[in-house]
Amino acid sequence: MPKEIFQCRECGYCCQGETTVSLTPEDVARMADYLKISVAELKSRYLREKDKVIQMRVVDGHCIFYNGGCTVHPGKPWRCTQWPLHPSILSDPNNFETIKESCPGISKRMGYEEFCKRLAKLTPKKS
Ligand code: SF4
Ligand code: SF4
Repeated sequence: MPKEIFQCRECGYCCQGETTVSLTPEDVARMADYLKISVAELKSRYLREKDKVIQMRVVDGHCIFYNGGCTVHPGKPWRCTQWPLHPSILSDPNNFETIKESCPGISKRMGYEEFCKRLAKLTPKKS
């Protein structure tokens, strides 16, 4: 990602809050593998499940894996790897502004249309 569009400031803001991203079954398997523990142990120690939605536990207002940075970086959920380039950002200028406000990694000089244009160039179209 070109730095003029996005450069992570490692502020940790996106790892804070009372909920986290939800995990896919692949995320759960990858994370257990990375931590070298069983899925059952991963779930009992680090995850929470409600209405079939699996998230990471929240401790002191942040993801349980946040400690000045992500401590499971290679095994983190794919939604974390995508942030802040959430698909909703491209479909709604208001989402873009909201995400831009909460993520200092997105250039403040970047407008919605310019951001979409540059991102589209980097994202191959599916046929
Ligand atoms: S909020 Fe943005 S700049 Fe801060 S850690 Fe998350 S992605 Fe990086
Ligand atoms: S897994 Fe890592 S990047 Fe994702 S919310 Fe938790 S600490 Fe942040």
